[in-house]
Amino acid sequence: MFVLPSIDTSHMVSLLLPVLLAGGVFGAIVAWWHGQRGKRARRSEATSKGSKRTTVTAGPGILTNYSAFQNRLQKAIQGSRSGDGAPALFVLDLDKFRYINDGFGHTAGDALLEEVTMRISDLLRPNDIVARVSGDEFMVLVNRAASATAARDIAHRLYDVIGEEYRIAGQTVRLTASIGMAMAPRHGQTAEELTRSATAALSMVKRRGGDGVQLPSGAVTTDAAERLILETDLRRALERDEFELHYQPKFTLADNKMIGVEALIRWRHPERGIVPPGLFIPVAEATGLIVVIGDWVLREALAASVRWRATLPGSTPPPIAVNLSFKQFEQPDFFSSVKQTIKRSGARAQDIEFELTESIVMHNPEAALEILRRLRGLGVGLSIDDFGTGHSSLALLKDLPVQILKIDRSFLRDVPGEAAGTAIVDAIIAMASALGLDVIAEGVETEDQLDFLRARNCYAVQGYLLGRPMPEANFLELINQRHATPAVSPPVAARYLRVVAD
Ligand code: C2E
Ligand code: MG
Ligand code: MG
Repeated sequence: MFVLPSIDTSHMVSLLLPVLLAGGVFGAIVAWWHGQRGKRARRSEATSKGSKRTTVTAGPGILTNYSAFQNRLQKAIQGSRSGDGAPALFVLDLDKFRYINDGFGHTAGDALLEEVTMRISDLLRPNDIVARVSGDEFMVLVNRAASATAARDIAHRLYDVIGEEYRIAGQTVRLTASIGMAMAPRHGQTAEELTRSATAALSMVKRRGGDGVQLPSGAVTTDAAERLILETDLRRALERDEFELHYQPKFTLADNKMIGVEALIRWRHPERGIVPPGLFIPVAEATGLIVVIGDWVLREALAASVRWRATLPGSTPPPIAVNLSFKQFEQPDFFSSVKQTIKRSGARAQDIEFELTESIVMHNPEAALEILRRLRGLGVGLSIDDFGTGHSSLALLKDLPVQILKIDRSFLRDVPGEAAGTAIVDAIIAMASALGLDVIAEGVETEDQLDFLRARNCYAVQGYLLGRPMPEANFLELINQRHATPAVSPPVAARYLRVVAD
């Protein structure tokens, strides 16, 4: 068993998620002592078991270390024969580890990471490898997993062992981990492919809020395989101009005014037809391609706004809302790049809005607040998307320079029939109103939902009932039609338009 030291991880998805801290007084010395003691105990225990664990100290370069792991992975894949068990790769990320460093200091954080490394390595057999690929991210190669079930068991054991108590500064601390896994050859036939599969699985855990294991089973397995194929095509899609934006209108409830439109990306794949974003955005995020795709979306939305201003009756196009990925938001030049793109487009900042989820903001609240303030300063509109599905701090929400909360459509599903869903929607509308925010309900599909929301004084709605996402030509037709016959209520227009929309 080899332990490779900490290496670069710019290729890895790195979101931080839940950690449970029990206790309150911080300090490092005791933690360090506990870390050392635990390590010694484990080392001697491992030695007495005859373990061949070797700790590889710092290699010649960051990439060399990563390459070393990838080489071993590649060799394991090439050397595996059917009937012999198959290599399994696990990519692990400690959720919200930064809180440990912030709260207990880096020395204690390091001791804890060593302890995690030891716990992992104690689970493994002599030929298996664990690499710390960054501060709080690990990769584990199990050379011969007997079956998919065995690999899944290992993932759960890794998860459990990381979740056991740690002692830091006299305090009991618990960590949770997010684990993505992949098995050769099913999820990848090269080290690179397998790493991508496992990383994509990890990013799925992260998107759900972390703290879990993503298994290569059932739908997920197909997904992972699917993702591999998609990634190769995705790179080409940009060059071949296969993306397009569809537009879904948003209407006020009080007076049926169209107050804006959401741009939703579609991929017109040469063989598969229209591919929805849910299938390719996670891959684009895992590979970093989302940054280029996101740039394209913004440029295209701005260009559409300029076109609409020139052609639409009344000459004021509705603001276009663009969805943001956490990866875009993490780019150091995100703000300046947005500013420049708007300037070059000839559109006004007010013509564009950004929709971002709670997790984007909560990931690094101070940085997010600063960027959002600067965007707001330009005149760009801001809304929180899928509200209610993430972990928002209400204190932070109060300070965010956003104007709109979009209630996630999952809450609307059981409204008005079901008491819990109804209570949640009520509570969100009341809270938003107290914070001076407008609420848009997403996913409105029935007249009953519309009536319910109207009775609650919800500001605006978006959903299939009122208009599906549609290609630009159909959207312009809708606007022209509304202009010509203002008496047409959105639901009627939508029923007509459903024939042409996606
Ligand atoms: P979202 O931003 O919450 O977008 C709303 C989603 O709900 C859209 O799915 C829309 O088609 C769907 N929807 C709208 N009304 C209804 C309804 O009445 N019933 C139901 N069942 N669904 C409805 P879509 O277009 O598949 O997009 C899914 C997600 O993909 C979006 O969720 C957004 O998070 C992401 N996405 C879409 N376009 C982009 C993009 O350009 N960049 C990024 N980063 N993400 C995008
Ligand atoms: Mg959205
Ligand atoms: Mg949404």
